[in-house]
Amino acid sequence: MPDSKRFPIEAFEDVLEANAQHATAYGGSDLTGRAARGLAIVTCIDSRIDPLSVVGMQPGDVKILRNAGARVTDDVQRTLLLASYLLGVQRILIMPHTDCRMVGSSEADIHATIRAANGIDTRSIEFRTSNDVDASLALDVVRVRANPLLPAGTRVGGAVYDVLSGRLRPVEV
Ligand SMILES: [Zn+2]
Repeated sequence: MPDSKRFPIEAFEDVLEANAQHATAYGGSDLTGRAARGLAIVTCIDSRIDPLSVVGMQPGDVKILRNAGARVTDDVQRTLLLASYLLGVQRILIMPHTDCRMVGSSEADIHATIRAANGIDTRSIEFRTSNDVDASLALDVVRVRANPLLPAGTRVGGAVYDVLSGRLRPVEV
């Protein structure tokens, strides 16, 4: 098989081995695809964040959307609509965090950093960096609240997760 079509098993051996263990112990699930606690969380890809444990929930309870910086993009809006109408979501928490790589650098700085280290020009992509996490979070909360297609009565809030203390700090918009 051409290398370009092959599953790169050498890159995923640990993943597949761990999954075999998981499947051995897995007892099936009575859960449905609906969010049992009616919650959606929009958060960052930061690997220090375990969204379920941050809010004391379990698999089956919450829809989790993640991207760099926990920003509200068109695809986040799309997913929130589907989650609201089809999957039981009635409240949405947008949850960026402290010490985020996407906060404090300008868009131009990030492009320049990547270009300097790799020689790649990434300026065709908007990374949606932020200089002020509270300000960008407020903007994102407003963006979701302003979505005219979202079901009436959906509650939308923003809170910054502190990766050192583990605490959420709700932000007024
Ligand atoms: Zn982050």
